[in-house]
Amino acid sequence: MGDINSLIKQLNTPNKIVITTHHKPDADALGSSLGMANYLIKKGHNVKVITPSDYPGFLHWMKGNDDVLVFTDKNSKQVEKFIDEADTIITLDFSVLHRINEMGEMVRNAKAFKVNVDHHLEPEDFADYRLWDTKAASTCELCFELIVMLGDKALIDKDIAECLYAGIMTDTGGFRHPNTTQNVHEVVAELIGIGADNAKVAKEIYDTNSLNRLKFLGFALSKKLEVLPEFHTAYFAITNDELDQFESKTGDTEGLVNYALSLEGIVLAVLFKDSGDGIKMSFRSIGDFPANEIASKYFNGGGHRNAAGGKTDGTLEETVDKFKSVLIDYKPLLDSEKNK
Ligand code: 5GP
Ligand code: MN
Repeated sequence: MGDINSLIKQLNTPNKIVITTHHKPDADALGSSLGMANYLIKKGHNVKVITPSDYPGFLHWMKGNDDVLVFTDKNSKQVEKFIDEADTIITLDFSVLHRINEMGEMVRNAKAFKVNVDHHLEPEDFADYRLWDTKAASTCELCFELIVMLGDKALIDKDIAECLYAGIMTDTGGFRHPNTTQNVHEVVAELIGIGADNAKVAKEIYDTNSLNRLKFLGFALSKKLEVLPEFHTAYFAITNDELDQFESKTGDTEGLVNYALSLEGIVLAVLFKDSGDGIKMSFRSIGDFPANEIASKYFNGGGHRNAAGGKTDGTLEETVDKFKSVLIDYKPLLDSEKNK
């Protein structure tokens, strides 16, 4: 939607730009945000990255991280001022405004030229220019393509390349998921060619665990993994006390759900997490099984077919029970995916 020329024209003169991304940014969300921010700063724009919540410490190495404004109840007026005064607002790695919490209505009401770059399935029509491709593995891949379309490939430096590489690496599950296309490899080849240190990025993201995080993983695997063999489903239900016991920080449960999915014969895996203000769910599935459908129909969420999320206000037990009752309807699909 919108024409690339409208964006080129918009960015022709120095702009006040706000870049934002979804709640609890992951590597694709923060990598695309800081990748674009570093690029637009080089172009002479005045750029502020604002996230609707905090994000894991294993993303803090990205260039520009120290200048990110993290929305809190205390700074909401300051955030609103940035959004109101922006000439351009760039929204990355989400396409429904409620994914940025209170900032959603601020962005909707802002007078700025709005840009949306995303690969999720449920678009909302709020942008003046949208680069939206559900077949893209990551928003970082789309940002690379956007910078190329804007004629600025030469401006991509090592720092920008590493931000973008991070999101592509994680959204493809380390180049293992079916979304790891030829184009993904072509883009990462370009990024490495520009100077991205791929081994450094992988180490920063995957190999900087705290001892508590590893102990929590051991606890979850040995005590909390539940299997529902008749539904080819496995899940973890983690209480708030258990998170506290291991001093769990933002990002510490990232990747846990994949262990449930790695069990042989499992089609659907879920992490239920009582974060203290509601239950957060992460769904992962294999093949054609639509995890996002369960997330959006029953758990106020959404996402991709094989990776989705949702939330409820009920208790952990109620949420797990509801999930189990939903599974009954999906048994034929779960069976057929298992037998493929
Ligand atoms: P994760 O399980 O890693 O939090 O999220 C997996 C995928 O689902 C991501 O693409 C994420 O953007 C999406 N997702 C996670 N939580 C929500 C949610 O509450 N609402 C929607 N619409 N998407 C979500
Ligand atoms: Mn993404």
